[in-house]
Amino acid sequence: MLEIALIAHDRKKDEMVNFVTAYEHVFKPHKLYATGTTGQRIMDATSLSVHRFASGPLGGDQQIGALVAENVMDFIIFLRDPLMAQPHEPDISALLRLCDVQGIPVATNIATAELLVRALDRGDFAWRELVHKYKPGIDE
Ligand code: PGA
Repeated sequence: MLEIALIAHDRKKDEMVNFVTAYEHVFKPHKLYATGTTGQRIMDATSLSVHRFASGPLGGDQQIGALVAENVMDFIIFLRDPLMAQPHEPDISALLRLCDVQGIPVATNIATAELLVRALDRGDFAWRELVHKYKPGIDE
C-alpha cells in the first residue's frame, strides 16, 4: 500500500475526477490523500476513501508538503491550472520544491499522471514499501 496525494485546481477538477474514476481499480489498494474539495469530489464520484486535508488555499498543499518532507508520500498527482493565478502560489511552489528535494514523482498534467498510474499498476513503486517500514503513514 502506497501513499498517494491528489490535488486539482478548480478548472482541473472534472479532469481529476474522470481520471481517478477510470483508474479506480489501480488506486483502490492504496492510501489516498487530497486537498479538501478535490477529495470530496473524488469520494462523491467513486467508492474510494480519501483522507482530506484543508483546501489548497487554506493550507492543504502545505499539509501534503509536510508528508513529503517526512518522506511518507510516494507520489503526487497535482493537476495545476497553468492559465490562472492562484492566491497560494507560494504553497504550490513549496510543495513542488519538496518533491524535488525528496525525489518524489509528481505529475502536474494528465499525460504524466497517466504514465505514473500505469507504473503504479505495474508495481514499479513497490520499493517504496521498504521506506514505509521505517516511516509509517499518519494513520498508523
Ligand atoms: P481544493 O484545493 O481541492 O480544496 O480545491 C486545491 C486547490 O485549489 O488548490
